[in-house]
Amino acid sequence: MYQLFTTLVYKKKIAFDLKDLSHEISQIMKADQAGHLWSEKNYVNGYTSYGSWDRLHQMSSTFEKLSKKIDNHVYQYAQKLDYDIKKNDLKMITCWVNYMPPSALHTAHIHPQSVISGTFYVETPPGTSSIKFEDPRLGFFMNSPAVKNKVSGQNQRFFSVTPQAGQVVLFESWLKHEVPINRAQKPRVSVSFNYGWC
Ligand code: FE
Repeated sequence: MYQLFTTLVYKKKIAFDLKDLSHEISQIMKADQAGHLWSEKNYVNGYTSYGSWDRLHQMSSTFEKLSKKIDNHVYQYAQKLDYDIKKNDLKMITCWVNYMPPSALHTAHIHPQSVISGTFYVETPPGTSSIKFEDPRLGFFMNSPAVKNKVSGQNQRFFSVTPQAGQVVLFESWLKHEVPINRAQKPRVSVSFNYGWC
């Protein structure tokens, strides 16, 4: 049996001062008025700096420090993907924060004009929503039987990863994903980013 055309999703813990990062995110939220206006229209019930301050790794030493750590994981992931690139060919191009109170959600999307994307989780209270990935071949299955209830990850049409604070999750930017409604009692806080091929 061959296993072909696989989709890899990477998850790993990163040692980082989450309290410090959390504090800085609350400072950003206080200051980023343009971000709140953008979020009202585009990120209902939540706040993101995606539409305002999306280069936090160039604005803050804390985020720069985090980006250096993430660089190493992106390289390890790129190795697993067998990309024919050198260590510094992939660079963080954007980095922003996401604050999702209870009931916030983020509908399905991809990350255009990037190679590798991902999220570092800062606060994941009990019941926090997962990140749900969709099989990129979904449309091709229109005449296939549904799969059984309990199947291995590789044969699932959707796969949910439940993150924990301190973990980074990486995926190729073309892989469609969503964050279902946050059913936790507290906000789900994360830092997302895109890497480009320079
Ligand atoms: Fe995303």
